[in-house]
Amino acid sequence: MWEQFDIVIMGGGINGCAIARLLSQNGKKVCILERHTVGSGTSSNSSKLIHGGLRYLETGRVGLVQESLKDRKRLFELYPDLVEMVPFYLPVYNDSLRPWWIIRAGLGLYDLLSCQTKYHCRHISNTDFLNRFVGIKSRGLRRVYLYYDGKTNDLEMTRKMARDAVGFGCDIRENCQVFSINIDDKLIKIMYKNSRGEHKVGAPLLINATGPWIDEVNVKYRLPHNYRISKVSGVHIVLNRTLVPDCMFLQTYNRRIFFMIPWAEGRTIIGTTERMERDSCDDVQIQDADVKYLLDCANHYLQEPVSQDNICDTFLGIRPLVRIKNADSDATTMSRDYKIDVISKGKVKLIHVYGGKLTTCLSMSEKVAARI
Ligand SMILES: Cc1cc2nc3c(=O)[nH]c(=O)nc-3n(C[C@H](O)[C@H](O)[C@H](O)COP(=O)(O)OP(=O)(O)OC[C@H]3O[C@@H](n4cnc5c(N)ncnc54)[C@H](O)[C@@H]3O)c2cc1C
Repeated sequence: MWEQFDIVIMGGGINGCAIARLLSQNGKKVCILERHTVGSGTSSNSSKLIHGGLRYLETGRVGLVQESLKDRKRLFELYPDLVEMVPFYLPVYNDSLRPWWIIRAGLGLYDLLSCQTKYHCRHISNTDFLNRFVGIKSRGLRRVYLYYDGKTNDLEMTRKMARDAVGFGCDIRENCQVFSINIDDKLIKIMYKNSRGEHKVGAPLLINATGPWIDEVNVKYRLPHNYRISKVSGVHIVLNRTLVPDCMFLQTYNRRIFFMIPWAEGRTIIGTTERMERDSCDDVQIQDADVKYLLDCANHYLQEPVSQDNICDTFLGIRPLVRIKNADSDATTMSRDYKIDVISKGKVKLIHVYGGKLTTCLSMSEKVAARI
């Protein structure tokens, strides 16, 4: 006997949980099958920002920034205890590859797109900045800007989204190893194992929300699909010291940006790297070069250098970026937009969700719901 649902979702990351939350709220009988535990994938290894993505303006992705800023506002209202608006400082130095006026113009547009009146970007005097950021180098400092964006605990937000989904009747099953998916004209039949044995579930709709594992899932279970992803790893290091009192974005020598974020218990998160990966997601590892790059970036701006000895933790996530034929393949400038891929066969549907950000989970879930 097949245990029947209206919808089965593979993957309990932020996207799977946000989709489950909305569809369960709409009265659908939904089941999530998660290979490990809710939020254990990319959704606990992000930079933890609920943001429009200021730097995407540089590559002209105004629509993505606008949608993300709208979602930022909604997440802030939905989970005020989990998403907080915090100040971000943007110091510009003489050797910064982007001049201050480009930063100023970008921030002005960001303010405009966010359609809010409370949090405005502004110029801060160098003296005020250096009095507050006592460990940061003053030599070569040209100008400093301040703007506001959202910060969260990504794992807690994903768990909260999952709890909300369960509150609306969703059934979340963790530690499930799916071993077969069969699509016929009336039902998608999924068999999985867990510690209690083998189980059979079926639904006329399967949503594949397995994040960076999506290509591997499509190949393994021979699921028809129209897109593929590029996997871009991002490493963060966590230092056992408070290096900055507030969040700070800085420019790197290779025209990228990196950040330092004050974190709980006097720690600081520094991120992130971007490297295109060919290995399967489970085999991607943090390399010594990733750690060295982040330490070098930070030390370029710190008065007292930090070293390997100050690192108390590291974490790695993989960005699933939609691969578009003949489009940009540079990891930094590739689009962070998401795609919803719908495949219909008889009375059944398969929906894949590719890419997306923590911030855009609400919009993405609404677009998925609209395609059902
Ligand atoms: C380094 C980095 C920094 C980022 N920073 C930010 C940021 O600051 N702000 C922001 O908005 N976004 C950020 N993002 C993007 C954001 O984190 C991701 O887009 C988002 O978490 C993806 O969520 P997801 O649910 O699609 O994937 P995931 O969270 O990876 O969830 C997929 C789930 O599928 C499960 N799974 C895999 N295979 C199977 C299977 N066969 N059966 C069942 N389950 C399976 C996995 O275990 C996993 O839990 C960042 C991403 C990275 C990598």
